[in-house]
Amino acid sequence: MEKLDYLIVGSGLFGATFAHMATKMGKRCLVIDKRPQLGGNVYCESIEGINVHKYGAHIFHTNNKEVWDFVNSIVEFNRYTNCPVANYKGRLFNLPFNMNTFYQMWGVTTPEEATAKINEQKAEAVAVLNGREPQNLEEQALSLVGKDIFETLIKEYTEKQWGRKCTELPAFIIKRLPVRLIFDNNYFNDKYQGIPVGGYNRLIDGLLEGVECKTGVDFFNSEYRDWRKYADNLVYTGAIDEYFDYRLGKLDWRTVSFKTRIEDTPNYQGNAVVNYTSHDKPYTRVIEHKHFEMFGKEVYDCPKTVISEEYSTEYKDGMEPYYPVNDERNNSLADAYRQLAEKEENVIFGGRLAQYKYYDMAPVIEQVLNFKSLL
Ligand SMILES: Cc1cc2nc3c(=O)[nH]c(=O)nc-3n(C[C@H](O)[C@H](O)[C@H](O)COP(=O)(O)OP(=O)(O)OC[C@H]3O[C@@H](n4cnc5c(N)ncnc54)[C@H](O)[C@@H]3O)c2cc1C
Repeated sequence: MEKLDYLIVGSGLFGATFAHMATKMGKRCLVIDKRPQLGGNVYCESIEGINVHKYGAHIFHTNNKEVWDFVNSIVEFNRYTNCPVANYKGRLFNLPFNMNTFYQMWGVTTPEEATAKINEQKAEAVAVLNGREPQNLEEQALSLVGKDIFETLIKEYTEKQWGRKCTELPAFIIKRLPVRLIFDNNYFNDKYQGIPVGGYNRLIDGLLEGVECKTGVDFFNSEYRDWRKYADNLVYTGAIDEYFDYRLGKLDWRTVSFKTRIEDTPNYQGNAVVNYTSHDKPYTRVIEHKHFEMFGKEVYDCPKTVISEEYSTEYKDGMEPYYPVNDERNNSLADAYRQLAEKEENVIFGGRLAQYKYYDMAPVIEQVLNFKSLL
């Protein structure tokens, strides 16, 4: 068998984009993935004709025109704009904090009135501190946005996310809490935003067109472990500690679990994303997947809907590793693994698992586009 130029472990956005670029440049690639399907975390499962984001809701957003043009050259993107709504004990508020939120909270109608209200509440919190620095997340948030916003939209949501009281969480978790003094519910500030028309699988299929791929193949339990026999280079997008057989210790992750069900109604909550910011509901968010891709009448042309409740869950072996834990132990352990990685010849460690860093989709693609000159 002729040797490959690249054996690519992982068919998520890093691996798939890499395979696309390298193939375009005439390189021979093989992509393997241990999951039964391609696409990594952006994979969608079709249920009742709705693309269900199986590994968590994904909204593409970027300021980088090169990345936006690149993904649009593979598949057209729709006009989805993320405008989440918060539900606090049945009261609804727009997010991110903006003039709509302040009107719903206090009935204020002008930026001046909203600013006065926020400043009044911030001043109360700062007075309580009496000159000292905020000691925990609760004090920090109160001094940034005041009592009403904190108690209604931050406190219990954050406690559900972290499984700890805000008074027991460090202040640094919240550095800034931007408030918008305009009526603008668009969650992201980026210039470009959307969902691939037909779903993310189209993006992955487009990237991997003409590339040989094998699913259900775990690098570590397959013939490819001895990859130098098969390829000149390895692109590894799995977990970095696993690559080194956990020899320095295991990295920790945070995870989310999803309870997904079909509802016999065309429109369950009227929005793709609803955050539940009070303790009376155990989940943090409910995602109604059809709203990512169906608009106006299309919502009602599809008689059912699929929703996913999201639960913040303590990570255990065998669960999906979603978010790196940025504490001292894990940061220094990840650094130590990165140093080992630098010594590996002809191996590229790419993507969120191999770099032990949270990356949105666009920066992952940007990284691969920057490899162009090396290929
Ligand atoms: C819950 C959640 C929500 C998110 N929402 C957004 C969002 O709204 N917008 C946004 O821009 N970004 C979002 N992201 C980030 C986005 O998921 C990542 O940027 C993207 O998945 C990174 O792609 P990747 O290729 O690095 O990793 P992945 O998509 O995880 O792909 C890695 C692949 O490697 C495979 N693999 C691992 N080990 C092995 C092995 N030993 N052998 C074979 N295969 C292996 C895995 O099966 C997987 O398919 C979200 C992330 C999470 C966790």
